[in-house]
Amino acid sequence: MQFDAQWLLLALAPVFLACIGWEAWHLSRTRPRTAPNAAAADNARYTWPDTLCNAALALMHQGADKLAWLVAVPVYAYVYRHFRLVSWQPGFVAWFALFVAQDLLYYAFHRASHRVRWLWAAHVVHHSSERLNLSTAFRQSLMYPVAGMWMFWIPLALLGFTPEQVVAIVLVNLAFQFFVHTQAIGKLGWLEYVLNTPSMHRVHHARNARYIDRNFAGVLAIWDRMFGSYVEEDAREAPDYGIVKPLASCNPLKATFHEWLAMARDFARMSGWRSRAAALFAPPDWCERHDALGLAPVTAAAAHARHVVPENDTEAEFGSRNP
Ligand SMILES: [Zn+2]
Ligand SMILES: [Zn+2]
Repeated sequence: MQFDAQWLLLALAPVFLACIGWEAWHLSRTRPRTAPNAAAADNARYTWPDTLCNAALALMHQGADKLAWLVAVPVYAYVYRHFRLVSWQPGFVAWFALFVAQDLLYYAFHRASHRVRWLWAAHVVHHSSERLNLSTAFRQSLMYPVAGMWMFWIPLALLGFTPEQVVAIVLVNLAFQFFVHTQAIGKLGWLEYVLNTPSMHRVHHARNARYIDRNFAGVLAIWDRMFGSYVEEDAREAPDYGIVKPLASCNPLKATFHEWLAMARDFARMSGWRSRAAALFAPPDWCERHDALGLAPVTAAAAHARHVVPENDTEAEFGSRNP
C-alpha cells in the first residue's frame, strides 16, 4: 500500500509529542522555578492555556488543509498535464530540484505573508503567542487555503513535478520547521549558514525592532542571506516574542479571525478603490500609516482599540514597530 503524503504530519505526531515531552522536561531541569509565577513568566515554558490553544489550532489547520488539497491537487494536476516545462527522470536529482525549488517558493510565500496584509491575516496566527516552544509550531491558521497559500506551489507543477510530489515536499518542509521552535537549543555552528535553525527562527518570532520581519527561511538559510533578510540572534538582546498589537487571548477562534475582522473593518472605512485595495494587499501597517498622515480621522477610542497613537505622537509610534 502506498503512503499518502497528505497524512505525513499526523503520522509524525508521536515524534512531535515525544520532542515536546523532552523539551518540557529539559526546561524544568535547566530553568527551575525560582518564584511562584516564574514558570508563567518564562516565555519558553509550557502553560495549559497557550499549549491547548496551539493544539486546537493545529487540528483546525489539519482539517482545513485536508479540504484545501481537494481543490489544489486537481489544479496542480491540470497544470502538470497541460503546461509542464520539464519531464524529470525519477530519482535523487528530481527530488533535490523539487526540494530547492519549493524551499525558495516557501521563502517567497513567507516573506509575502509578512508584507501583504491579506496573507498576514492568516499568518499572524503563527506569531500571536508571546511564548516560544515546540508547541508554537502547531500554531497555524485554518485560513491559509482562503489566503491562497496553495497557489504558491503551482510553479512546481509547471516545473514538471507531480501533484503527489508537490504535496509531499510542502509537508516535509513544514515538518522540518517543527524542530526550530525551541529555546532549548543554542546556536549550531556552521549549520547556521545552511539551515534554518532554532536560533535563526527565534529571531523570526521576535518583535524587537532589530529582529522584526527577518529570517523567513523554511529549511535552507541561504535565501535570507541572498536576499538581505538575515539577522543573527544577538545574545545581548533576547527576543521579545509576539506581535506588535498583542492578541492577549488564548481563544483559538479569536487567534484565527481577529486580523481578518480588523482588515474587514479597515476595508469598510476606507474611501476609494485604491485605499480599499491597499487595506487588503498593502503591508499590514498601511492603514495605521494612512491614518497617521491625516488622510482618515482616527478617533481616540478607535486609536486605543487598535494601539495607534492618534495625534501628534505618530512619528514616535512609527519610528519603531515595538509596542
Ligand atoms: Zn512568519
Ligand atoms: Zn515559526
